Amino acid sequence: MKSSILVTGGAGYIGSHTAVSLAKAGFRVVLLDNFSNSDFQAVQGVRSLINAEVPFYEVDCRDTDGLFDVFRIEKEKGHVIKGVIHFAALKSVGESVENPELYKDNNILGTERLLEVMRAFDVENLVFSSSCTVYGEPEVVPVDENAPFLEAESPYGFTKQACERLIVNHLTRNPKFNAVILRYFNPIGAHPSAVIGESPRGVPNNLIPYLCQSVAGIRGALHVFGTDYPTPDGSCIRDYLHVMDLAEAHVAALEFLFKDKLRDKDTGWRAYNLGTGKGASVLEVIQAFEKVTGLEVPYSIAERREGDVVAIWANASRAKDELGWQTKRSLEEALNDSWRWQKKRPDSQ
Ligand code: NAD
Ligand code: UDP
Repeated sequence: MKSSILVTGGAGYIGSHTAVSLAKAGFRVVLLDNFSNSDFQAVQGVRSLINAEVPFYEVDCRDTDGLFDVFRIEKEKGHVIKGVIHFAALKSVGESVENPELYKDNNILGTERLLEVMRAFDVENLVFSSSCTVYGEPEVVPVDENAPFLEAESPYGFTKQACERLIVNHLTRNPKFNAVILRYFNPIGAHPSAVIGESPRGVPNNLIPYLCQSVAGIRGALHVFGTDYPTPDGSCIRDYLHVMDLAEAHVAALEFLFKDKLRDKDTGWRAYNLGTGKGASVLEVIQAFEKVTGLEVPYSIAERREGDVVAIWANASRAKDELGWQTKRSLEEALNDSWRWQKKRPDSQ
């Protein structure tokens, strides 16, 4: 058994899949979540896939005492937490525009408090969930990690930029601290068992959950937000990667942190883009879904969505060169897994 790893946001979409990959790689996972965008079913799903004891704490990352208790209780049980993967955040771009204060409070303060408690317990290794939104509308694609942070397109994007800066500042004051910042592109798909997957609350904002619910008859036709963009077919381009590939990147990042203490040879932190390196347009995704499932996607062309980046995909060669990670699964496989998960949840609202 390797080290104990605290997974904040562990009941969420990416956190739950990562927990399973971590356990498969031999880590002992400890989950923490406040269920603001998830429920206990995901914890049960993780437990059944791991088939082992998985401690879960219902705690909010802004609650210093609650966080303190998690580290203390685990320590008293003889499991010193060696690293943290910090997924816990609110992630809806639209909601962040409506309520920017909530996003600042939840995402930035949550990260600040977590860092304080990690310091109190001498926990030196952090993997942070960032996003390609930190790049805004990039001037060059594929975008690499040296691209500047442009003005954030939304308060959500702003919180990711702010958290990255917070982590880098924390490093300057804490000589032993190491952090890997992972900038995700667009994760989709589900665990192939369909025991865990993405469970958005209410009407999904993201393309794939909406598309699946549309095909399942739970929603009306999918609205394709704009086909008049300067792209080959006029719809926006993103880099969609399978959530299991993304989960495995966290294992690679942790192993890298434990093996190559960044502090010893660098500034103590490193950022990595996580994507396939290939872009797909909204219309191409619809076609790929129809091809792989044999089902028709009901859709109509709608107005552009405010704040959408036109085209972005990753240059993920740094992750390949330094973490030894690259995506293995195709867009079709991811769409098939999303659909398999949707079929298991016919009542999803
Ligand atoms: P998710 O909403 O499924 O998971 C986040 C989890 O964190 C949820 O279970 C939620 O209940 C929990 N949470 C939120 N605030 C919390 C708090 N203050 N204390 C404790 N728990 C809290 O989202 P996800 O897609 O799994 O995203 C995970 C991380 O990855 C987030 O930081 C998100 O910003 C980032 N990210 C996601 C995407 C994406 O497309 N899904 C892309 C880039 C970055
Ligand atoms: N999109 C769409 N209809 C939807 C949801 C999304 O056409 O109902 C488009 C959106 O405009 C974007 C792409 O799908 O071009 C991916 O959007 P998503 O919200 O999934 O991810 P993000 O905007 O964070 O990249």
